[in-house]
Amino acid sequence: MRDRIILCLAHMSGNEMKFIEEAFAQNWVVPLGPNVDGFEKDLEGFVNRREGAAPLDRRVVALSAGTAAVHLALVACGVVPGDEVIVQSFTFCASAHPVTYCGATPVFVDSEPASWNMDPELLERAIGDRLAKTGRKPKAIIPVALYGMPYDIRRIMEVAGRHGIPVIEDAAEGFGSRFDGQELGTFGKFGVLSFNGNKMITTSGGGALICRDAADRQRVMWYATQARESYPYYQHEAIGYNYRMSNICAGIGRGQMTVLDAHIAHHRHVQQLYCELLREVDGVTMHGNPGAEYDSNFWLCTATLDPSLRIKGQDEAYRTVVKGAVGGAAGVIHEASSATTDCQPNDNVEALRVCLDRANVESRPLWKPMHRQPVYRDAPAYVNGVSEGLFKVGICLPAGPWVSDDDVRYIVDTIKASIER
Ligand SMILES: *Cc1c(COP(=O)(O)O)cnc(C)c1O
Repeated sequence: MRDRIILCLAHMSGNEMKFIEEAFAQNWVVPLGPNVDGFEKDLEGFVNRREGAAPLDRRVVALSAGTAAVHLALVACGVVPGDEVIVQSFTFCASAHPVTYCGATPVFVDSEPASWNMDPELLERAIGDRLAKTGRKPKAIIPVALYGMPYDIRRIMEVAGRHGIPVIEDAAEGFGSRFDGQELGTFGKFGVLSFNGNKMITTSGGGALICRDAADRQRVMWYATQARESYPYYQHEAIGYNYRMSNICAGIGRGQMTVLDAHIAHHRHVQQLYCELLREVDGVTMHGNPGAEYDSNFWLCTATLDPSLRIKGQDEAYRTVVKGAVGGAAGVIHEASSATTDCQPNDNVEALRVCLDRANVESRPLWKPMHRQPVYRDAPAYVNGVSEGLFKVGICLPAGPWVSDDDVRYIVDTIKASIER
């Protein structure tokens, strides 16, 4: 049997060990050092590029995780207990959880059907309603580049600017995606990147925060290193965090930067191949760039299944409790207590996931919207049914650097063979 085809898995460039060995040779085995500095410079060079315009001047802080980057962006925006923060509901939990770390409440905003990301009109309505209900403005707005797809950042920035609310772009999945020729993460007050093992590039685990200027960067850096004051002893006047990236992880990152452009090109190529091969397959629709300004990195390729499409074994879908569930061996500690919940993908989507799994192909439902997560049942939400509707019909297909053209053909053939005629 062929090797399992994974959704997205890190691929080393061959240059990583050189940077790591340097770190050992120089005894920089700490959360700062030449690799951290070098990685930040590389990241700044990358995100500041613009098509047909002068480069930007954003500054980057390397951190221990993308989740830490979201958290520090909120801290730097002055989010404190009792505040509200607007978060795109259709996302991975790491966009929202740090709001609760601050003692604040996430206010979830649903998506628009074109990009699958934050609906600017609903955002406007949510801000107005929070003002009317609480007398206070939300402290920040977090749109998310789902599977790499850009959000409508122009309209989101227009709404946010009119209300004077900072935007924290969660571009954890959208590293290398562009809107109107400009890198995601560089539009808002802060931009979040992730270098987890399954993201566009990896540092084994890590993240970064893109900052508007050197002063913002300095403040974030201060919070990331336990908020130390300049005394000969440890004097603390604010609560800080231990969120800096290690010099070893940054060495991996420097190696990965040498293949970033090639990885992005590969993800886009895989997307194109899926589109080509699935074009004639009735009932299966690839999600693509919804307009000329949108330039997704296609971190994961995603498709939707028409509810009328019949998939083999669909009558048995959800019959048994899943063991292990999403995220792999290390990801799930709690066993599910039931085979179903009150909000789950359609039976044909689950059946296709099982067919692909049997053919040794990993696939996954879309992110379950935060406003339908039990843990957020009491959070305010402004919904239009888009994210919940997509969650029911959507599926993520493998897209990483390990996925060959032959793999894509095999995956599409498996999909075709799974359809009942
Ligand atoms: C992966 C991810 C994060 C968090 O990144 P980590 O590095 O895993 O902490 C945040 N937001 C989104 C949307 C993500 O997919």
